[in-house]
Amino acid sequence: MAKIMAVNAGSSSLKFKLYEMPEEKVLCSGNAERIGHEDAIFGIKWNGQSEKTILPILDHAKAVELVVNAMIEKGIVSSMDEIKGVGHRVVQGGKYFSKSELFNKDTEDKIESLIPLAPLHNKAHLVGFRAFKKILPNVINVAVFDTAFHQTMEPEDYVFPIPYEYTTKYDCRRYGAHGTSHKYLSEVGLNYLKGVKHPKIISCHIGSGASITAIKDGKCVATSMGLTPLGGIMMGTRTGDLDPSVMNYLCKCTGKSVEEMYQIFNKQSGFLGVSGVSNDSRDVLAAVDEGNEQAILSNKLFIRRIADFIGQYYVRLGGADLIIFSAGIGENSPRTRKEVVDEIKDALGVEIDEEKNKDLRGQEALISTENSKIKVVVIPTDEEVMIARDTYSYYIK
Ligand code: ADP
Repeated sequence: MAKIMAVNAGSSSLKFKLYEMPEEKVLCSGNAERIGHEDAIFGIKWNGQSEKTILPILDHAKAVELVVNAMIEKGIVSSMDEIKGVGHRVVQGGKYFSKSELFNKDTEDKIESLIPLAPLHNKAHLVGFRAFKKILPNVINVAVFDTAFHQTMEPEDYVFPIPYEYTTKYDCRRYGAHGTSHKYLSEVGLNYLKGVKHPKIISCHIGSGASITAIKDGKCVATSMGLTPLGGIMMGTRTGDLDPSVMNYLCKCTGKSVEEMYQIFNKQSGFLGVSGVSNDSRDVLAAVDEGNEQAILSNKLFIRRIADFIGQYYVRLGGADLIIFSAGIGENSPRTRKEVVDEIKDALGVEIDEEKNKDLRGQEALISTENSKIKVVVIPTDEEVMIARDTYSYYIK
């Protein structure tokens, strides 16, 4: 038995979950937000209880100290020594990492060298790692990469049709994201495909950020996000795929710089940009019901983009046995699931069972009919448990 922590460090936040492994029992979870401020927020949930405090947290090391002290105070651990490993989510592993890796100088240097590809994320992950190393110097740290699962793609799936020297010299290619989630979903998805020889899965991680992955025999063959998480389907505030000329044309029209427009594509587009209402799909759907034309259009765009990728991946996989819906929207919106299936049902023979496609409240469920040519399931994703598993496996090595 060992207590293992899964961590997701952002530039001003630190999410954590402590597991008893190998049972995968969650002992506590929480979040430090607004790190760097006098009025930062520290929240922790344990044993059916929760607590939120507003206090100064000036850096990540302070946040880690708070986390560990809170765990001791609340009797979740009796001393720091009980924590045997810390697994860190790392957004960009580039071409270097096709699996989780122990943190050492080489891992640290590589993550650092990838900062240009994920400026906000990778920098923050390193800050998080260094904070843990300072507070828990004798514990193993493991980097778990969002991109690792997608490293099995073939060049024709990851190379962009740009001058080839840009691909080789600058490593400018598709890396994808949400890989830890897609891996988890495909593993759980296999439970629905007992006896299928070469299982073909299309997993749809549809939250604020959203991506779709084609998986054959447990391996990723294609994924919708690109060099960064801006690519692929439309999202809460991100464009997804665009004609690259849009950048050039709009910069000329508006007089904005490439950097400004890039921020607009990342933060003011998608649901928010098209609907003018919100980046949150619940608000957008409420506006759809009130007859808001832009909200209706944004929702249609969203559904169409998802359906297009499912169609593309159906062809890429040579068919499909299972479609998985997951993440904030995929898990919680029966309406979005139905609207997506309505778009693909004539071509792919997919049928949803209206009774089963209900508000599932975080439950896993098969929602297709017996006659459906492809099974459709809802699986709540769990990236943290994957981080804890990989970290634990290094601990027992
Ligand atoms: P991320 O992890 O990328 O920040 P999430 O996976 O948490 O995003 O998903 C957030 C999205 O899920 C939001 O657009 C939110 O509106 C949507 N969502 C959450 N609950 C529901 C619901 N009951 N119905 C529709 N959408 C929902």
